[in-house]
Amino acid sequence: MKYFSLNEKAPDVSFRDAVVNGIAPDRGLYFPESITPLSQDFINNLDKYSNDEIAYEIIQQFVGDEIPEQELRTIVKDVLCFDFPVVPIEENIGSLELFHGPTMAFKDVGARFMARCLGYFNQQEKNDKDVTVLVATSGDTGGAVASGFLGVDGVNVVILYPSGKVSEVQEKQLTTLGQNITALEVDGAFDDCQDMVKTAFLDPSLKEYRTLTSANSINIARWLPQAFYFFFAYKQLKDTSKELVFSVPSGNFGNICAGMIAQKLGLPIKEFVTGTNVNRVVPAYLESGIYEPKPTIATISNAMDVGAPSNFIRIEKLHDFDIEKLRSNLKGFSYTDEEATAAMGHLHKKHQYVAEPHGAIGYLALKNYLKTAENTQGIFLETAHPVKFLDVLYPGVAETIELPKQIKAVIDQPKTAIKISDYKGLTDFLKS
Ligand SMILES: *Cc1c(COP(=O)(O)O)cnc(C)c1O
Repeated sequence: MKYFSLNEKAPDVSFRDAVVNGIAPDRGLYFPESITPLSQDFINNLDKYSNDEIAYEIIQQFVGDEIPEQELRTIVKDVLCFDFPVVPIEENIGSLELFHGPTMAFKDVGARFMARCLGYFNQQEKNDKDVTVLVATSGDTGGAVASGFLGVDGVNVVILYPSGKVSEVQEKQLTTLGQNITALEVDGAFDDCQDMVKTAFLDPSLKEYRTLTSANSINIARWLPQAFYFFFAYKQLKDTSKELVFSVPSGNFGNICAGMIAQKLGLPIKEFVTGTNVNRVVPAYLESGIYEPKPTIATISNAMDVGAPSNFIRIEKLHDFDIEKLRSNLKGFSYTDEEATAAMGHLHKKHQYVAEPHGAIGYLALKNYLKTAENTQGIFLETAHPVKFLDVLYPGVAETIELPKQIKAVIDQPKTAIKISDYKGLTDFLKS
């Protein structure tokens, strides 16, 4: 499979190069040159296949012959070592729980897939120099990347996080793994971490020391495997006579965009709903037709605090850059922290369901959509386990949550992080 840059000023590349480079030299996002629907027979009989088989069928065309079949099947199996249940909440509403993986964030699937692809290429090419994955995190991404890449040969991971600004669980997930993972605790905000990472990628003085690559959500190997979830949900539907709608709480819009790939592959999805927090660039665009990125506003659903969603261009591409086409396939609603908290309270009291703020926004958006929809089954994506957001759950709920085994395994481990306060601190570390 070839990938082209959405800025159209860079050469087409292979799957391997798109994964290793992350972003095209013209700063554009990579996009597959074709998307071939899967057979209707396969889709109608999804429940007869294992998740591993389904995932292989989906991802195969995007990898092409660059990873041999047996190897790719092993990678997929290894990535998907946990469940993706749809939990019924109320009539016509289910929660697709994407948080049963090693770090309890939906980003586990993409991070694990990307790590194994990079590991495979590195091993094939017998590179004598390790690759260094450099990533800045505001919380969730770092843990998923650290765990996804743990122990992968030939790859080192360096994670920058803002000191005192990630939750205790998230910090432990970043700083206790050891091996090929190093955490740099930055005296600053998330934006400072992000700026340092961007500067490092363009810094020629680092070239002789490190081969740097990124693991953020614009990488195709993190983005495309997210299409799996929507098939796994469809497979669990008992009644397929209703029309199917997914509600996806969104920040960078990678997850929902992968859902639209699933739709292109033939999955019968009527349309998508997105819920955002007050960082509402996309819902505002759907309303007004004016696309206006904004500085981010901090909220309790902080993994969606994004003022300029990086994957939105891919969504536009999937709708031929035609806002009317987009409007007929995507509805958008946004919610304040108070509304998200009230929704968590409602879900807990009325349905005995513990949601965290991101999932709660997905639920609210879906409820809103269903007010005017008939004969429709809605599924919202619950993107993280509530234990990762203990300090912002509905009052009194945090105390009722038992620590899952994945969290128990890290919470009492000693933290190891290198403190840095400026860009020189980062380059000193990378050159050492
Ligand atoms: C990253 C993240 C999101 C947003 O996903 P996008 O693909 O960036 O839209 C939502 N919820 C949680 C918990 C996340 O970590």
